[in-house]
Amino acid sequence: MNSKSFIPPQRILMGPGPSNVHPRVLEAMARPTIGHLDPKFIELMDDIKSLLRYTFQTENEVTFPVSGPGSVGMETCLVNLIEPGMKVLVCVNGVFGGRMKDIVERCGAQPVVVEAQWGSAIDPQKFEDALKQNPDIKLTAFVHAETSTGARSDIKALAEISHKYNCIAIADTVTSLGGIPVKVDEWNLDITYSGSQKCLSCPPGLSPVTFNDRSLHAIKNRKTKVQSWFMDLNLITSYWGTGSRRSYHHTAPINALYGLHEALLVLKEEGLENSWNRHRKNCEIVIAGLEKLGLKTFVNEDERLPELITVTVPEGIDEAEVRKFLLEKHNIEIGAGLGTLAGKIWRIGLMGYTSNEENISKCLNGLKEALAKFN
Ligand SMILES: *Cc1c(COP(=O)(O)O)cnc(C)c1O
Repeated sequence: MNSKSFIPPQRILMGPGPSNVHPRVLEAMARPTIGHLDPKFIELMDDIKSLLRYTFQTENEVTFPVSGPGSVGMETCLVNLIEPGMKVLVCVNGVFGGRMKDIVERCGAQPVVVEAQWGSAIDPQKFEDALKQNPDIKLTAFVHAETSTGARSDIKALAEISHKYNCIAIADTVTSLGGIPVKVDEWNLDITYSGSQKCLSCPPGLSPVTFNDRSLHAIKNRKTKVQSWFMDLNLITSYWGTGSRRSYHHTAPINALYGLHEALLVLKEEGLENSWNRHRKNCEIVIAGLEKLGLKTFVNEDERLPELITVTVPEGIDEAEVRKFLLEKHNIEIGAGLGTLAGKIWRIGLMGYTSNEENISKCLNGLKEALAKFN
């Protein structure tokens, strides 16, 4: 094979992630690599932690990016709390809740599942009933923004109920952080993880996490070793911890961290509230445009995510052809349905840097053309 440098096409990424990366982030990532224990790099790490505290709205000391995509953040949060034989309450209303359940099982624990229909939020009453019926549960896990369906659950309520039953709560905010309010301290979320490539306008590969004191206390009182060496918080914090004495754990992805730092800076400059408002307003424009095209959204208005809008595919339309047309003719990527929703919905992402009026009008025009062509 005659290999040469890869030049990717210029796409507008309006799927479920990754979203478009801010040009300042790409520029930052192209800067020279330095050592991962260089004093200058340690200064950068401290600033990343501080910017993440702002982004998560928390004072938690243990707040840092895990080296790996959102799924590694998910696994890190779960493995540090789970011990074999434990029961864990897991909320499943889409693909990502299902992934949590799988991890719980692989850790030798027993998931107790609270389900909701795909496209709906988790019902806090059902959640509470399950905790009432299982007083031995000490850990709960739920997804804020279910990217596979476009539904938002009330994680403030779920955390509150968890504490009423003496449980530690783990919240997935991969698709919510930066796009809709996530208030770790105010909502009392014990453990929260996210991902770099959704509303943070950064490439995939890093997973911000934050742990409060209650969760750290539970980790300290474990009877067994954390089953993963790489994800053991006791070991990672020797590198990401406080003070100038940092020791080698694994070689941090230096340039990826330059990128995350710049992305968090861009977000801070815009201001979290302004970013939430931008996502909300742009969603309203999309919804109005979809209605004009005669398209229906899949999720009820009060549970709908502004950064990931799911659209019901009209009868008689081949959804894959529409996506192919948008990609080939307009360089726009939108997402397909997953699992039971395959073939039934499109997923339109308006995350981070992607969420602007120009992209929206290109996407709506492209959809209009596609609907006329394939009807
Ligand atoms: C994307 C996503 C993940 C997984 O993140 P990856 O970076 O793909 O590993 C987890 N949870 C939710 C809700 C997501 O949207």
